[in-house]
Amino acid sequence: MVSRVIPVDVFDLVIFGGTGDLARRKILPGLYRRFVAGQMTSDSRIIGAARGELSDDAFRKLVAESIDEFVPKDRRDEAMITEFLSRLHYVAIDAKGEGGWDALKNMMRDGVVRAFYFSVAPALFGDIALRLKSHGVADDAARIVVEKPFGRDLATAKALNATLAQHFHETQIYRIDHYLGKETVQNLMAVRFANILFEPLWKAEYVDHVQITVAETVSVDGRGAYYDKSGAMRDMVQNHMMQLLCLIAMEPPYHFDPDAVRDEKLKVIRALDPVPQQDIVRGQYLAGGGQGGYLEHCENPASTTESYIALKVHVSNWRWKGTPFYLRTGKRLRARASEIAITFREPPHSIFDDAKGWRENVLVIRLQPDEGMNLMVMIKEPGPGGMRLMQVPLDMSFAGVLGDEAEDIPDAYERLIMDVIRGNQTLFMRGDEVEAAWAWTDPIIEGWNATGAKPQGYDAGSSGPEDALMLMHRDGRRWREIR
Ligand code: NAD
Repeated sequence: MVSRVIPVDVFDLVIFGGTGDLARRKILPGLYRRFVAGQMTSDSRIIGAARGELSDDAFRKLVAESIDEFVPKDRRDEAMITEFLSRLHYVAIDAKGEGGWDALKNMMRDGVVRAFYFSVAPALFGDIALRLKSHGVADDAARIVVEKPFGRDLATAKALNATLAQHFHETQIYRIDHYLGKETVQNLMAVRFANILFEPLWKAEYVDHVQITVAETVSVDGRGAYYDKSGAMRDMVQNHMMQLLCLIAMEPPYHFDPDAVRDEKLKVIRALDPVPQQDIVRGQYLAGGGQGGYLEHCENPASTTESYIALKVHVSNWRWKGTPFYLRTGKRLRARASEIAITFREPPHSIFDDAKGWRENVLVIRLQPDEGMNLMVMIKEPGPGGMRLMQVPLDMSFAGVLGDEAEDIPDAYERLIMDVIRGNQTLFMRGDEVEAAWAWTDPIIEGWNATGAKPQGYDAGSSGPEDALMLMHRDGRRWREIR
């Protein structure tokens, strides 16, 4: 397959928090990969900005170490690394002070794309936005990239949107949800909207239910006190899982255009029913496998924050009335696995009397660990023995088509940063989308806060709390295995 890397325009990208965890693990190694791929050309520059004093060379050394740690050995090339590092600079800036900003302004070049990645605590977003403008660092075409969490409820998200809007137009604001940058998530849109096969079946009449799972094996050990202020609903459901739900449930946009896509996603969020407390199961992992439980890790024995949540969600519109969406996510589960599974209904009539082995058609969209798509279909079991049915996966993943080149597919952060430079907002959340998602989330959280109910304990390494199984069983359904 021919490589289709299209170089992006020349840019100056400033990474606030350029020495932080996210920058070192994802953003900078990702940019190196785009440089090697030829997408970032050698006249572009990356400027790390953080509070500490650091020379350009010290910053380059830090980035070289990140590349060493986070880019696989067979993807590293010493000459390329040296060339890439020469594109890096550093400026010491305190987001809350005035020092360093004029130096940054003087570094900016005219006639190139200016992008500013806010890879710092959200409390600093407003300060940075303000000073980028007051010191004349950002021009009217500049783009800003903001990380999650975008608020912790509707009021804080609105306040943050209002603050950013004082300094930047909505078309300049790129709110990251890295799930949207995943190859498979975009493939989901291609499968839905570039084929005639699926769309006629994509509705309550033919879809029995949808399961969205984001399972993690990691605990919150080491960042428990921080996690305890959010919990699984805020950390995963309100943003990442909501975005996945939107892409499955939305109507076809009239065009693959940022606002057309985001208008349709917004309509889905607005169509979500409030979720009654009996359709929600929350859990906290227990000690096990030589590790402490959630209550120890979050350093708060009385915590009622959930490390697991499962909920049944209804999209109240013409297309989806009667098809539940089951969402679940949690820490310390059996496996690290994220997938969307769309389970279709039974054929209206079976012509096979003794059709043992019949199972529903399921379209499985796997986001991690191995991205791909499978459509589970029924075929005749080959060979003699009469008409016996068996279920086989129809592999619809890109990895098989691309072979070795699958390795060169940009990861979510890489793709999204390149989209920022291209000025394409399709895969970024718009302000009204984020607010609508919080407007749906807030009453759910208030609901359980009002009851003071404690989350149910679940075994480390399990599939979650018992009650989550019941949530499905009582509807005559079952969760797919987490593996
Ligand atoms: P971090 O604490 O590792 O790094 C923070 C960075 O901000 C450091 O470079 C620090 O020097 C800089 N900084 C702190 N105070 C500053 C100030 N007053 N002025 C200028 N710079 C200052 O944090 P992180 O884990 O890299 O997270 C950064 C952002 O990304 C946060 O909003 C976080 O919620 C978000 N995020 C992180 C991850 C992740 O995997 N780390 C994942 C998703 C989202």
